[in-house]
Amino acid sequence: VNGYKNVNAGTAVFFIQLMNYVIGPIQQIPPLMMKRKAAFALMDKHEELLSANQNRDRTIALNETDNEITVKNLSLSFGIAERDALENINCRFKSGSCTVIVGESGSGKSTLLNILSGLNRDYRGEVLYGDKSLESVPNDSLYDVLSLIQQNIYIFNDTIRNNITMFSNASDQEVNQAVALSGLSSVLESKGPDYVCGENGNQLSGGEKQRIAIARTVLKKQQILLFDEVTSALDPQTAYQINQTILSLQGITRIVVMHTMDRNMLAKCDSILAMKNGCIIESGSFNELMEKKGYFYSLLTISGDDGSYSTN
Ligand code: ADP
Ligand code: MG
Repeated sequence: VNGYKNVNAGTAVFFIQLMNYVIGPIQQIPPLMMKRKAAFALMDKHEELLSANQNRDRTIALNETDNEITVKNLSLSFGIAERDALENINCRFKSGSCTVIVGESGSGKSTLLNILSGLNRDYRGEVLYGDKSLESVPNDSLYDVLSLIQQNIYIFNDTIRNNITMFSNASDQEVNQAVALSGLSSVLESKGPDYVCGENGNQLSGGEKQRIAIARTVLKKQQILLFDEVTSALDPQTAYQINQTILSLQGITRIVVMHTMDRNMLAKCDSILAMKNGCIIESGSFNELMEKKGYFYSLLTISGDDGSYSTN
């Protein structure tokens, strides 16, 4: 039984972000957080889902060294659809590498990230973290090492620091390191440590929210970060800076789904996967794919000045 199926996209976004922090025995949630109305409302909604999805057969825990992902013959269909949303995907995300996935809308990029994050477990084929099959790994263990970052970042109406720590007892040194690595230093300096983020973070820019999401994962020492079109709502300059920050997160296995063709990002990442109709139709380095003059090359050449492309 896969309870996630009935969760709409918006709920899933909140769900996975909260799962990263509040999963585990409910008593472990810091009392401060229990007071938060927003947290409470979401908790109620998701507690049911949580328990429904804690499959007791999944007993293998991941650790920080299980940060290489191997995907073998992965397919997934949404039942009603004529063709598979993903069809026989084979790829490897090397430990500490940064992979960019491009492909037109509907090509299966989000579906792939959702499977890797345990959100959709109805796949065929195999997903390995290190040598452990995702099938036997429970989501709470998965979220110890992995975060999926999407466009909507859940922000509490509280200070930037509390939004980074999620009310955990992190040391100043750890927080400062996360702040620096996520590119939040200048934001904190100009806004001050007591700056309150506002309801749903409405006192922050989109780029600042993305940086808070990155800082959270750095603080949790998560080794795998999946980004699903996080820059698409940002202006090109901010998008460029966020991509630079992502590139700088060395040692962390990163998979970045991009909807614009940011040449700088594409040229600097370790490898590129180009998807079409649920398949990976090209993979390689930027230079390799440019020389090939195939699908990736055509996407890059039809993309506008801002890097956007649409063949729909
Ligand atoms: P991308 O992220 O590349 O735009 P998606 O992974 O979201 O593509 O979608 C791949 C295909 O799967 C599309 O045809 C899409 O319509 C379909 N799809 C995605 N999610 C669902 C769902 N929950 N139910 C049915 N079909 C879906
Ligand atoms: Mg998508």
